[in-house]
Order: sequence, then C-alpha cells, then structure tokens
Amino acid sequence: MSRYSRSSNGARRTRCRCGRTVLRQLVGQRAALDVTADADELTAAAAAALREPNRLDWCLRKRADGPDLLWSSPSHRANCPHPHVIDHQCTAPAAGPPRTRTARTSSVAEGQLALV
Ligand SMILES: [Zn+2]
Ligand SMILES: [Zn+2]
Repeated sequence: MSRYSRSSNGARRTRCRCGRTVLRQLVGQRAALDVTADADELTAAAAAALREPNRLDWCLRKRADGPDLLWSSPSHRANCPHPHVIDHQCTAPAAGPPRTRTARTSSVAEGQLALV
C-alpha cells in the first residue's frame, strides 16, 4: 500500500541489500521503470561502455531538491556534460521472502513460555 506520494521526480539515495549505495527512482512518463542505479558517477562515455541490453545508463541531473535520473539516448550521450550512472547489478544472493513483522509476535510467545 505504498504509492509514491511525491509528485516531483527525483532519485532516492538508498542502500541496497548487497551493501552498495544506489539511486532509486521511477523513470518515465507512460510506463515508469523502477530504476536502481549505482550511485557511482561515470562520464557519459564510460557509462555507455558498460551499457548492455538489459543494463541501461541514466543521465544524472542534480536539482535543488536532489538527484534526478533521465533517459539516456544515443544522441544524448554523444554530447552530454552531466555525469551518468549505470543500472545496479546486485551481487547479493537472491532474496528469500522478506522477513515479516509477525515473526516478532512468535518470539514474544516463546519468551513467555520460557518464563513459565
Ligand atoms: Zn546525460
Ligand atoms: Zn545490490
């Protein structure tokens, strides 16, 4: 139930479960992509060199209210003075189901049993 309530675009700097700092943002107008990109800033050319069919690079703009990721097209990259970032490739092992908070109630129950 967490809709993105922020109306303005912008990337959130967050920490991935693999420990790296990443930028997350919904990019796009019609079909927004949930982008997770490395926070490391690259030149447009360096990011283009790392680009793969399933790994896109993004133009990083620094706005007053924080970083903002933009689509990077070939014509854009040729002459871009801004830093670019590349999709994060996570090295963390595949996640199991996230721990739910209901686990806590069971540990409380165990503690009560132990006290008896
Ligand atoms: Zn750019
Ligand atoms: Zn990761």
